[in-house]
Amino acid sequence: MAQASGVKVQDVKDITRIERIGAHSHIRGLGLDDALEARLVSQGMVGQANARKAAGVILQMIRDGKIAGRAVLIAGQPGTGKTAIAMGMAQALGADTPFTTIAASEIFSLEMNKTEALTQAFRRSIGVRIKEETEIIEGEVVEIEIDRPAAGAAATAGKTGKLTLKTTEMETVYDLGQKMIDSLTKEKVQSGDVITIDKATGRISVLGRSFARSRDYDAMGASTKFVQCPEGELQKRKEVVHVVSLHEVDVINSRTQGFLALFSGDTGEIKSEVREQIDQKVAEWREEGKAEIVPGVLFIDEVHMLDIECFSFLNRALESDLAPVLVVATNRGITRIRGTNYKSPHGIPIDLLDRLLIISTTPYSDKEVKQILRIRCEEEDVEMTDDALALLTKVGMETSLRYAIHMIIASALVCAKRKGTQVDVEDIKRVYTLFVDVKRSTQFLQEYQSEFMFNEIQPADADMT
Ligand code: ATP
Repeated sequence: MAQASGVKVQDVKDITRIERIGAHSHIRGLGLDDALEARLVSQGMVGQANARKAAGVILQMIRDGKIAGRAVLIAGQPGTGKTAIAMGMAQALGADTPFTTIAASEIFSLEMNKTEALTQAFRRSIGVRIKEETEIIEGEVVEIEIDRPAAGAAATAGKTGKLTLKTTEMETVYDLGQKMIDSLTKEKVQSGDVITIDKATGRISVLGRSFARSRDYDAMGASTKFVQCPEGELQKRKEVVHVVSLHEVDVINSRTQGFLALFSGDTGEIKSEVREQIDQKVAEWREEGKAEIVPGVLFIDEVHMLDIECFSFLNRALESDLAPVLVVATNRGITRIRGTNYKSPHGIPIDLLDRLLIISTTPYSDKEVKQILRIRCEEEDVEMTDDALALLTKVGMETSLRYAIHMIIASALVCAKRKGTQVDVEDIKRVYTLFVDVKRSTQFLQEYQSEFMFNEIQPADADMT
C-alpha cells in the first residue's frame, strides 16, 4: 500500500527455521510425467512404478472433480511405500484440495463415538469453494466532488472542493464514494488516505481507523456527485475464492465459540440437524452459482484397525454425493475383521472390498532401496561414502527399509562423535551392533525367552520371523 509509508514497519528478524524431518518429508509428489508414466526417480519417489501410475490416474480423476465416493485400497507389505504414495498424492493435489490423513486407530476415542469421528474426517475432506465478490474493497482517495459543500460531511472533511480518490480494486468509484460519505460524517478523510471497506461487516477503515456505518448514508449519497478516476486506473472488482471444508462450516455453526473451536480442536460432537442445515445451505449456494464442491481425499492408514461398525458406516457414507475419495492402506493379509470372528482379505469385509479399486505395492530391488536411502541421506543432510551406502543398502535388503532409514541419522551421530565428515562403513557397523532390527530382536527373545517376564511364546508361535 503506497500510503503505508507513515506507518513504521517493524523490523522482522530472520529466524532460522527449525525444520523437522518427517518420515515422508522427501516426498514432493508422485513423480509422474504428463502421460502419467512414473519417472524412475522424481519428486523423491523411487520405483513402485505401477502403483504410482495407478495413483496418478486416481489423482487425475480427483482433479477433474468428477468423482466422489470412490474408494481405493493400497495394499502391500510393510515398508513398500503405501503411505509414501498417499503423501505423494496429497502433495500433487496442492493446497486447495482437502486431504485428510488419519490412522484408523484414531477413530476409537472416549470423547466421541466412532461414526461421529469418521463423519468429521469425511467432512474435513470435502471442500466448499465459495466465490464472492471482494469482501474488502480497498482504494486510495482520488476525487470526490460534493455538491452541497455546506453539508455536514464536507464540513467535517475540512474541504469544500475535492478529495482525491484513486481506486485499485473497484468497479466504480461511485460505490466506494457512497461509503466514503459515511466516513466523512465522522472523521476527516484526506486526499491520499487509504480506504478499506469490509463488505461483510460494513465497517470502513481509513489508514487503520475504523468507522461504523452511518444511518444517513442514502440521503447523503443522493446529493453527492462523484468524479470517476481515469479509466486506466479503474480495475474490475476482484473475485475472491475461499476454500473451506464442510467440517469447518459445521464447527463454526455449531458452537458458541465459533471458529475458535477449530483451533482448540475441541469441536465435540456436531448435531445432525446442524449438518443437514449446512448441506441444504451449500446446495442453495451451488444452485445460485456461489459455491462449488471440491471433493478431496480422506486417507485412512492401517485400515484393518477399523471394526465392522466403521466398515458398514464407510459403505453407506461413500454413497452420499458429498463424499470424498477414500484412500485406505493396509499391510495385512487375510486376517480377522475387528468386531467379528470372520476372516477376510486385509481384514476388510467383502462388501466394502468389492467397492475398492486396489493398488498393490511390491518389494523393492536393491537398486531402488539404495536410491531411497540416498534420497533420505540428502533429506537428513548426511554425507555418506559409497561403501557405507552399499552396506546400508545390504542391511536394508536383509532387514527392512525402515530400519536402514533409521540407521542414517544414528550413523551420522556416531560419525560426528569421531569427528568424521562422511559416514563410513565403520559407523554403519557400529550402529548395526548398537541397535538391533526386528529379526535379531526376535531371535534374542527366542534364545532368552525363559528370562523375560510374562513370557507367553509357545514353541509353535515362536516362528515370528
Ligand atoms: P507400513 O505397511 O509399515 O505402514 P508403508 O508401505 O506405508 O509401510 P512407508 O511408510 O510408505 O511404507 O515407507 C517406509 C519409508 O520408506 C518411508 O520413509 C517412505 O517415505 C520411504 N519410501 C517408501 N517407498 C518409497 C519410494 N517409492 N520412494 C521414496 N521413498 C519411499
